[in-house]
Amino acid sequence: MTQRKILVTSALPYANGSIHLGHMVEHIQTDIWVRFQKMRNHTCFYVCADDTHGTPVMLAAQKMGVKPEEMIEKVRQEHLADFTGFLIGYDNYYSTHSPENKAFSQGIYKALKANGKITVKTIEQLFDPEKQMFLPDRFVKGECPKCGAKDQYGDNCESCGTTYLPTELKNPYSAVSGAKPVLKSSEHYFFDLSSCEDFLREWTSGETVLSNGKKQAHLQPEALNKMKEWIDGGLQNWDISRDAPYFGFEIPDAENKYFYVWLDAPIGYFASFKNLCERLNLDANEWLKADSSAEMVHFIGKDILYFHALFWPATLKFSGYRTPTAVFAHGFLTVDGHKMSKSRGTFITAKSYLDEGLNPEWLRYYIAAKLNSKIEDIDLNLQDFISRVNSDLIGKYINIAARSAGFIKKRFSGCLKNVAGHSLIAHLQAKAEEIAQLYEEREYARALREIMLLADMVNEYTDANKPWELAKQDGADEKLHEVCSVLMNAFKILSVYLSPILPATANAVAAFLNIPALLWDDATRTLPENHKINDYNHLMKRVEQAQIDRLLEANKQSIQPAAVENKADFEPVAPVCSFDDFTKVDMRVGEVLSCEAVEGSNKLLKFQIDLGFEQRTIFSGIAQSYPEPEKLVGRKVIAVVNFAPRKMAKFGVSEGMLLSASSNGKLFLLNVEDGAEVGSKVG
Ligand SMILES: [Zn+2]
Repeated sequence: MTQRKILVTSALPYANGSIHLGHMVEHIQTDIWVRFQKMRNHTCFYVCADDTHGTPVMLAAQKMGVKPEEMIEKVRQEHLADFTGFLIGYDNYYSTHSPENKAFSQGIYKALKANGKITVKTIEQLFDPEKQMFLPDRFVKGECPKCGAKDQYGDNCESCGTTYLPTELKNPYSAVSGAKPVLKSSEHYFFDLSSCEDFLREWTSGETVLSNGKKQAHLQPEALNKMKEWIDGGLQNWDISRDAPYFGFEIPDAENKYFYVWLDAPIGYFASFKNLCERLNLDANEWLKADSSAEMVHFIGKDILYFHALFWPATLKFSGYRTPTAVFAHGFLTVDGHKMSKSRGTFITAKSYLDEGLNPEWLRYYIAAKLNSKIEDIDLNLQDFISRVNSDLIGKYINIAARSAGFIKKRFSGCLKNVAGHSLIAHLQAKAEEIAQLYEEREYARALREIMLLADMVNEYTDANKPWELAKQDGADEKLHEVCSVLMNAFKILSVYLSPILPATANAVAAFLNIPALLWDDATRTLPENHKINDYNHLMKRVEQAQIDRLLEANKQSIQPAAVENKADFEPVAPVCSFDDFTKVDMRVGEVLSCEAVEGSNKLLKFQIDLGFEQRTIFSGIAQSYPEPEKLVGRKVIAVVNFAPRKMAKFGVSEGMLLSASSNGKLFLLNVEDGAEVGSKVG
């Protein structure tokens, strides 16, 4: 068999959020493929990284009061721990904020520029005058120009679905500072994608002849159709620059300009691989140069096809690098037929799954049972999950060993008979190439159906021969030895076939069978006469309904604000209020000039408040908390100053309201820090 060289990637998770089961679908899909290729003795490397650049990371780090470098490294460690927990076997999990990535990104940019693929154009964009930054579409909010819904993002309305430009929003405001954005012009750098049309038509519909002579289409048929549509619709030049402040790499010879995160993210595949090669003392260029015979395949979600099937091959082509061998896109994960939802508890984080003690191989098995080579959404149906794991994985596969290993140990000192040529074993072995082909084509669901049909045959053989009855019969030792040896060999073959999906179990099986780590060829080798196996320890537990219930509960809790643990004691949170609504309330810092009890009221205190621009009389219902009101004189308070004057029964007119917090039925004034001057605005 020709040994192939294959570089494999999964899409880079963004460094501002937790890994959830949606991510796991992709990384499990990739990992199964990679493990399969490695079992076939190909030279296969699997690299990934955290995608670290851009405005969301910059702002999140600012909010936490740490440097972005510090935040992204912490997040990278968390992401890697989650993936490792699900047995994802990267050869390298790196960061796009790396020296290798900077060098590749700047080098690719310079080559594109030298090839006349970079143009400069002045564009007008919304700018936050307070934060002194240009605002990405998602950071501008306002009223939908079509339906008037409030608090819509700058690119589309979640209420009526219209898409528009951020400049079309009514009453726009910056989601960062709340300031009213202004239009400001700036020079932007564009990748001239429209001039790559001929190449992209050819590449998207093309195929690569692999080193084993087989042909691999660059895109799946559904993806190709989508790309044709986009190319026919006219390719827009791609804005690859962002103005400072921005967390990313500076564009060479362009002051205060940074590469847009989507330029350097896929280049991060190269950087992660280069970093690996340095460790292994390999020549990365041999894999990445334009005429490389190595394969490079990318597993991605369908939502980022545009970047991977158009921008990425075009940037590679016109900067002198190799282009991808294939882009494999998958659909989204739904849970119980719905989009993952925080309120239902189905927005399940990888960490919560592991923390609740669920076995990662259960999920790997279930996801594999749903995956094919098409771009289809897949559903995690939690009842189906329980029944497939318990009845198929445990009931049909694990139980084969559980039912026969003991007899080999007790009756035959752990030694097997050679059963080469036995018809059941020969049948199982004959399926090796067919199942391999299904893995190769990412038809995992079909592969598992084939494997489970074989498991059914093995179980039929067990039921027909009943080793537990043979064990009680006199003179049936020979037969018992043969039946159990057939079952051990059958179990080994099934374990080879399941190994890419269940790597931890496969290792445990190899240890139990007293053989080296399983390779694909082991499926066609029978264990020799007198081969001695080790003690059988239980390989896998069943899923309990209670575990799933706890998982959903844990994910419901994880989205509650941390402080609100005992909800019953707190007022419910009011309906969403827009920043616009909030800014209608004019609040100022005032100073108490005088304060007195009100005769005939046990609740009210009467204040004279200095607001800087004027003095006002304000009544406040806080008497219960302040039995000595004169002590409040000189204290700074916060007052709402634009309510209409309000008549307080017979006591007088209140020209405002003092802010206070209500606790256990009493009201307490809010403090104002020194330095906030009388009359200054609160908000
Ligand atoms: Zn709308």
